[in-house]
Amino acid sequence: MTVSNVYPTAPLRALDAAHHLHPFSDMKSLNAEGSRVIVRAKGCWLEDSDGNRILDGMAGLWCVNVGHGRPEIAEAVAAQMGELSYYNTFFKTTHPPVIKLAGMLADLAPPAFNHVFFTGSGSESNDTVMRMVRTYWQTLEKPEKTVIIARKNAYHGSTMAGASLGGMAPMHKQGGLPIPGIHHIAQPYWFDEGGDLSPAEFGLKAAQELEAAIDEIGEDKVAAFIAEPVQGAGGVIIPPETYWPEIARICKEREILLVADEVICGFGRLGKWFGSEHFGIEPDLMPIAKGLSSGYLPIGGVMVADRIADVLVNATGDFNHGFTYSGHPVACAAAIANLTILRDEKIVERVADDIGPYLQKKWAALAGHPLVGEARMIGLMGALELVPSSPARRRFAGDAGRAGTICRDFSFRNGLVMRAVRDSMIISPPLVITHAEADELVRLTEKTLDDTHAELT
Ligand code: PLP
Repeated sequence: MTVSNVYPTAPLRALDAAHHLHPFSDMKSLNAEGSRVIVRAKGCWLEDSDGNRILDGMAGLWCVNVGHGRPEIAEAVAAQMGELSYYNTFFKTTHPPVIKLAGMLADLAPPAFNHVFFTGSGSESNDTVMRMVRTYWQTLEKPEKTVIIARKNAYHGSTMAGASLGGMAPMHKQGGLPIPGIHHIAQPYWFDEGGDLSPAEFGLKAAQELEAAIDEIGEDKVAAFIAEPVQGAGGVIIPPETYWPEIARICKEREILLVADEVICGFGRLGKWFGSEHFGIEPDLMPIAKGLSSGYLPIGGVMVADRIADVLVNATGDFNHGFTYSGHPVACAAAIANLTILRDEKIVERVADDIGPYLQKKWAALAGHPLVGEARMIGLMGALELVPSSPARRRFAGDAGRAGTICRDFSFRNGLVMRAVRDSMIISPPLVITHAEADELVRLTEKTLDDTHAELT
């Protein structure tokens, strides 16, 4: 559908190209092609400056869980701006929105989680995790326990610590990363790395790399293991069912803190409030962001289990860490309004019982397309593996990522935002997507696959 074009695309693009350095973008090619100007959004739909409507299959950056443009959140934010637009939470100070949000999170999280430290983003949350786990062990007089084990191809953010905890090779190539004290093990990516093993066998093998790494580094030096319940930016890598129980066993037996990065999986993406609940694991720390405010304002945090909080509260003294915007009152008001919508409209339950299974079934059928080697989805996050000859688990020869880029470009032209991670196509729509919109998402994906197939053959 085309609506009136009130934004002049060409001058906006020219100004953007002249002054704006974009994250995760090749600026030279962006300036040659012209950036994509999004001017408004409602529910699951974006509108660009040329008046095109585009289905937001990625919920922004995996974050707009309640959909775009909810007036309740705008009103809560405006009201809070009028009441207390800013105050900090340093030096024993607090305010009603941060108190209320902390209490709400304690109610919504698993029973062991009754404390939260607020940040401004997922990356800041993971920086906080790193300092917090090391401080925890220092307080317990085990200061040599500093190493954090993470996974290859994981994403934990873009700050120095976040990008170092992450296992993205292209990020590590820039800026001298990773910082010391971080060790990466294999990811549970059966499609690419499982070889002849069954998914269950491979899941165990990948998990046991953690035990091998602890043995190699020394249990007395390892502070924590961090992982996303389902790797998102790495390519929606759903671990085999054997993976998480084995990881949980190892962390418990070897006195290693378990950190579940819930920045994507938290707040309903997997049909539970937290992704760890889906896999039945009990982490020690849970970094959160994105769905906490559905992206309406920047806010993140680290949820801290009681056994860790007891040490930090009763024995550490000052935790010399914090951000100007830790517990920002207006961001807290947005998060409270967002969590209220998620809770009162039973959106998380809907992902588990209704729209999740509905879209999963339709998505799975895409495995019949000649370009698709695997179609997987959990909750409302899914991936398609593009291959030269379905159903073989074999990648395109040569230029990894070429098929994905072609497919992503067709997708956008067809009116659907999908993301390409090398040759994996990713979706993660708003959790409020309707059945009719889910049908449309699948129809647009099929058309995009057909267009891509025609271009590649
Ligand atoms: N952790 C995970 C699992 C993420 O997916 C992201 C962002 O995509 C982050 C951390 C970083 O969050 P932010 O971009 O808010 O810093």
